Amino acid sequence: MKNRKLVMIPGPTPVVRSIQDQMGRETVAFGDPGFINDVKQVVKDLKTIFKTEGEAFVVAGTGTLAMEMGIANVTKEGDNVLVVSNGFFGDRYIELCERKGLNVDVISSEWGTIVPVEEIEKKLSEKNYKAVTVTHVDTSTGVCAPVAEIGKIVKRFEDTVLVVDGVCATAAEPEYLDEMGIDVLITGSQKAFGVAPGLAIVLAGPKALARRESLGTIRDYYIDFEKWIPIMNNPGKYFGTPPVNLIWALQESLRIMKEEGIENRYARHKKVSRAMQAALEDLGFTILAEKEYRAVTLSNVIYMDGIDDGKFRKILAEEGAVVAGGLGAYAGKMFRLGHMGNIDTHDIVSTMSAIERTLYRLGVKDVLGKGVATLTSELVKVPELAK
Ligand SMILES: *Cc1c(COP(=O)(O)O)cnc(C)c1O
Repeated sequence: MKNRKLVMIPGPTPVVRSIQDQMGRETVAFGDPGFINDVKQVVKDLKTIFKTEGEAFVVAGTGTLAMEMGIANVTKEGDNVLVVSNGFFGDRYIELCERKGLNVDVISSEWGTIVPVEEIEKKLSEKNYKAVTVTHVDTSTGVCAPVAEIGKIVKRFEDTVLVVDGVCATAAEPEYLDEMGIDVLITGSQKAFGVAPGLAIVLAGPKALARRESLGTIRDYYIDFEKWIPIMNNPGKYFGTPPVNLIWALQESLRIMKEEGIENRYARHKKVSRAMQAALEDLGFTILAEKEYRAVTLSNVIYMDGIDDGKFRKILAEEGAVVAGGLGAYAGKMFRLGHMGNIDTHDIVSTMSAIERTLYRLGVKDVLGKGVATLTSELVKVPELAK
């Protein structure tokens, strides 16, 4: 019998049955009284969980649309923008901002490391930037930026709005907008939320909303905060047809999150990721990200000598786990393993065992049970709650 394939890539992540069920429901009119209440609930939950007095937007689109929405509402042509890049998705903001006619300065880190906060502070004190973009977890490197520290710094610069790309972090890494100084948080449905792809989710705090107001009419239409604010607050109104079933799926994902408790969810991700990373290192792999900046949502795993990327990922899929390849200079040298969202101990242990069986089939000796032993001995420890 064929193995079921666990989707352990950095998005889409496994979608649990109760969320799938929401997508299988009969679609109703967007003006349906029940659906109107559901949208209100989703908006309220997003603002409560991620702690902002501002606004929440849920629109059909992917994380990239959310990136565009995030920057388009807080800048206008000719503005200076600072892009802090820790990898591929950080770099994506460069072209995106340039196409909008923004003057872009970039500070990037070597892949696997972060841009030091002192460098960000130095840049901000040299020039007036209307916005700074930071990728919380860059999926290409598995590096997590110190967003809380960056937020503290940006808060001191009255004119600068902090836009955080949380596509691979939100719902797994702590992100509390107003207290952390995150002015715009952009994310998507298919990563740590554990919903199917298709929703762009954006949260905007008071500083970002004041900026939007000061801009008057902006060039972008579909992603204009001012088009959506009346809808998010009064979902019976029409602007663009809401993706009804995906919004229900997100509502279920938020219900799961509230049931688990957001702090517990953050602690779970930390525990699982550290256990996974320890086990991978025990098997002889190298984790790309420096230890203190490792993401909790995914691991970027460099092969030991003699392992062929194509063969490894093909056999691993046969053994029941799908992982992603490396990007950029790491293509062929690394695989990317997602361990975020609504996954449980079965998923984690099965994935580790499938990795061992794959190495065994590739001729690596003394590997069966080794990673699982490390992983499970870490998992049974009492969770060390987030510092
Ligand atoms: C996946 C990802 C994106 C892009 O999201 P899409 O839904 O693929 O458009 C942007 N930023 C980060 C950090 C991501 O991980």
